[in-house]
Amino acid sequence: MSKENSKNQAAKLATERIKIRRSAASDASSLISKIKMGDRSALGMAITLLESSKPQDKALADELLQSALPYSGNSIRIGITGVPGVGKSTFIETLGVKLIQNGKKLAVLAIDPSSQKSKGSILGDKTRMERLSANESAFIRPSPTSEALGGVARKTREAIILCEAAGYDIILIETVGVGQSEIAVKAMVDCFLLLMLAGAGDELQGIKRGIMEMADILAITKSDGENIKASNHAKSTYSGALHLFPPTDSGWIPEVMTCSAYDETGIDQIWASIEKFVNHLKIKGFFDAQRHEQDVNWFRETIQLNLLSDFYSSKAIKAAIPRFEEDIRSGKITPFLAAKEILTLFSP
Ligand code: GDP
Repeated sequence: MSKENSKNQAAKLATERIKIRRSAASDASSLISKIKMGDRSALGMAITLLESSKPQDKALADELLQSALPYSGNSIRIGITGVPGVGKSTFIETLGVKLIQNGKKLAVLAIDPSSQKSKGSILGDKTRMERLSANESAFIRPSPTSEALGGVARKTREAIILCEAAGYDIILIETVGVGQSEIAVKAMVDCFLLLMLAGAGDELQGIKRGIMEMADILAITKSDGENIKASNHAKSTYSGALHLFPPTDSGWIPEVMTCSAYDETGIDQIWASIEKFVNHLKIKGFFDAQRHEQDVNWFRETIQLNLLSDFYSSKAIKAAIPRFEEDIRSGKITPFLAAKEILTLFSP
């Protein structure tokens, strides 16, 4: 994100916070009714509340989520991943505009594991999706910053629920194809789309076999001009490779497609493939089962996150950690024993 953009973003968030506080009557129910009426700024405010670490915001955020849950679930949740530069934002913009023309409402949420490591974020690095941002039927939210991946993933899940309550029928979760964040995204979507470049070796793209195995649909991007031949070649190579993978539980064989966001070719076919996949899951009874399993995982992850957060915010633990770490460095205690001892100091 450019300095100017991040300043604007910070100012926008600060105004949202003030608005939230000012309306002390911003109880969950009035915010939820606005969200349900499709008020994008109410939705933005509510997500800001979810992202806040202030205890007073947290209580309201929990209430909001609780009241949004009954109105959630009615969307297709799609994960989109690929290395920086593969064409994610251009693809999402082209696809998004088409979907909106067909009467859909589209929310784009981002998970960017780079944003907490290096203050700059890969996904937010440029002015993105201008046409979509300006469209009333689209809601675009960048990744929350200054959070560990676990926290960002949790907040994204919660944001999905709010977007669904706001009537968005297609939720795209965008992430950078650099590893861990794919697993987090896979665990919250119905369909996982991997974008790839033709002509670049897998290693160059940082794409591990594991990520390919997670994909329900693969698309070779930028299949235009001189690149068409290479894209078609890549398509057959990847199709061949995918047939060597063990079949998925639902019996779906991932499809490989080519597309160009510039020429607007292949985009409709990719959407058709997404719909075909979702129908396949529904017919086989896997759609609901997958979501229920994801809910169970969400439950487990929430327990872990809450325990960790209680643990690290405990006074006794905060005081003891430096001492234990020093003793580990100087070889006075083994890491295993130190962990065992420090846990005895924790009372939730
Ligand atoms: P992201 O980092 O994955 O979000 O990638 P971007 O959407 O920002 O695209 C990276 C670069 O590829 C930009 O310079 C785009 O203009 C270019 N690009 C995106 N889509 C296409 C396409 O369909 N064809 C061609 N030739 N270039 C594209």
